[in-house]
Amino acid sequence: MAEYKSDIQIAQEAEIRPIKEVAETLGLDDEQLIPYGHYMAKVDVTKIQDLPEKAKLILVTAINPTPAGEGKTTTSVGLADGLNRIGKKTVLALREPSLGPVFGVKGGAAGGGYAQVIPMENINLHFTGDFHAIGAANNLLAAMLDNHIKQGNELNIDPRRITWKRVVDMNDRQLRSVVDGLGGVANGMPRQDGFDITVASEIMAVFCLATSIEDLKQRLGRIVVGYTYDREPVTAHDLKAEGAMTALLKDAISPNLVQTLEHNPAFVHGGPFANIAHGCNSVSATKAALKLGDYVVTEAGFGADLGAEKFCDIKCRLAGLEPDACVIVATVRALKHHGGVAKADLNEENLAALEAGLPNLLQHVDNMKNVYGLPVVVAINAFPTDTKAELDLVEQKCKELGVNVALSEVWARGGEGGEALAREVVRLCEEPHEFHFSYETDGTLEEEIEAIAKRIYHADGVDFTPAAKRDIKQLTEQGFDHMPVCMAKTQYSFSDDQSLLGAPRDFRVTVRNVKVSAGAGFVVALTGDIMTMPGLPKRPAAEKIDVDAEGKISGLF
Ligand code: ADP
Ligand code: MG
Repeated sequence: MAEYKSDIQIAQEAEIRPIKEVAETLGLDDEQLIPYGHYMAKVDVTKIQDLPEKAKLILVTAINPTPAGEGKTTTSVGLADGLNRIGKKTVLALREPSLGPVFGVKGGAAGGGYAQVIPMENINLHFTGDFHAIGAANNLLAAMLDNHIKQGNELNIDPRRITWKRVVDMNDRQLRSVVDGLGGVANGMPRQDGFDITVASEIMAVFCLATSIEDLKQRLGRIVVGYTYDREPVTAHDLKAEGAMTALLKDAISPNLVQTLEHNPAFVHGGPFANIAHGCNSVSATKAALKLGDYVVTEAGFGADLGAEKFCDIKCRLAGLEPDACVIVATVRALKHHGGVAKADLNEENLAALEAGLPNLLQHVDNMKNVYGLPVVVAINAFPTDTKAELDLVEQKCKELGVNVALSEVWARGGEGGEALAREVVRLCEEPHEFHFSYETDGTLEEEIEAIAKRIYHADGVDFTPAAKRDIKQLTEQGFDHMPVCMAKTQYSFSDDQSLLGAPRDFRVTVRNVKVSAGAGFVVALTGDIMTMPGLPKRPAAEKIDVDAEGKISGLF
């Protein structure tokens, strides 16, 4: 196989324009821009408040992924560059990378090949400090909570029922479960505790759904941190914490503007988990993009059963957004994986397995079209290891079945390789359609969960454990039953069993626990153990990251 340049090498060799020039292409002036150095800026959304949200909104999602990711971010960036190349003023709205995956397995999350956002080193590392601000706000609340107990516990908080954890933006399994407050009376109240990764904090979800500073403050105040001895919820507002938390976040909530390799504007802002949270970039960035462009390309995490479902049922519902078209990214390697090929053999041509894996893709297409009512195109994200016969087979099968399809070569060729997809997306945005949610929120929580399991996962039904039933009863009594549900489920399967590939049938989903993220405004249904503090692998990506005497970073993928 030919030698390919690494993502960081391509990014470092690219010409980068002053962010002011990129902002000018959006009609933004100095007063609306808050520069962070030469190449990054925040946009003051209060100064573009009066502009209408006029752009078409395009959601990029994917089939159930392999652990390496199927190229949603890469495709999003290349599609935006492709749209700009064919004369459509397009703005990206993407998530910010977390330091955990950067140093762990996955590496950076700013796209790949010739479809990236830059400056990639900054975006992947500290960027404009948003995640640090989120961590600080989270940990302030934790400190105030434990201090309240130490100072006499006026609110009667049961230390065994504290649900709020401290966070750090690192894959650090050592901190998953800890005992803290040791050392005697002067040093707090000993209790069992634990850390989550920053992106799993409810503050991240709140941050991404807030529409203004006022809304942010109210959401933060509603966060439930634990329960009293009488099992009544205790909120951040009860601890008088929301004002100071908002002060820590006031700059961070302005969306970050950067550029693609082809100098097109990209908002990169917010990055919640796609299992225990909704997995989309901030509402404020999406709305700013809708005001400033004619087309907006955005991405939701994991596969369409998790990310796109939550984008539609949570983000669009809570923010009053309506997508105009949906792109489903598929790769030959992931289709072969669903067709039963082992990870080590994914680079070998295998047409039979490829065809056997197609039902996974087709079920996502069917869901997005027929449940949500969106015009859909499949983007085949071409890898250097794919053979022509394989790429042709996917395209031919999709066409036979009446599925819109476009080959995307953005990783190898940048925006030029995304023009075919861009043209198809423009056509789809003009198609008449009617957007629907997959469920309404006026029924019971059980009904919401069952609707998602049956309509999106194609399960026969849902089993609630006794603990989940107790949780739902309690949340319903506390008035949290008319919120959308955020499903925490494996990303590798339509089901809650990661070994069931393709489009499984004859299975039931088990909900083990249900909890409220009252600030974010959703209820989380947990199927199986969901990791909210990942660990590092045996050979972490961090071992290969370095910086030379001039300050040039290497090894960031
Ligand atoms: P996702 O957003 O779906 O998680 P990414 O776009 O971040 O996926 O891509 C995951 C990884 O795969 C990145 O390292 C990226 O460089 C690489 N990648 C994506 N598309 C291609 C492609 N067509 N060929 C080779 N590598 C690719
Ligand atoms: Mg991504």
